[in-house]
Order: sequence, then C-alpha cells, then structure tokens
Amino acid sequence: MSVEKSKHRCIVCGRVFPSGQGIIINIEDLTLKFHSNRCFSKFTRELLKKIPPQEIKGYAKRLLEEYSELLSQRAKLKSKKI
Ligand SMILES: [Zn+2]
Repeated sequence: MSVEKSKHRCIVCGRVFPSGQGIIINIEDLTLKFHSNRCFSKFTRELLKKIPPQEIKGYAKRLLEEYSELLSQRAKLKSKKI
C-alpha cells in the first residue's frame, strides 16, 4: 500500500498542489490554501482592504515595531563584527 500524498487546491487560482508545497493558513476551523506566494499575497492584499483600518492599525503597528527591533538588533550585531 502506497502512502497517499494529500493534495490541496489553491483557493485563488484553483491549481492543485501536494502537501509540503504552497502556503496553508489555519484560522480556527477555516483553512486557506495557496499554491504560491503570488496567490497568497493577492488574497492577503484583498483581505487587508476589507478589514476596517481602525481594527488592523494596532496589529500593523505592533508588527512594525517588532520588525524595526529586529533590524536594529541586526545592525548592532553587524557593527560589533566590524
Ligand atoms: Zn494559486
């Protein structure tokens, strides 16, 4: 008996892709499947447009702070090495 590889279907373009490829996002009981980064970002951009700005702003700001913290840590590490 061969091991059956599960297949997924991209929700944006309908392309079928095997497990281990593509991007699969689970939000509680909702599963979003994307065969490529391109389909993922297309969907995400649409999603962001639909979320009220006041709801998303706080999360975006927090994430922005996390990234700028990472960047400054990386810059410090770089300057130590030189
Ligand atoms: Zn796709």
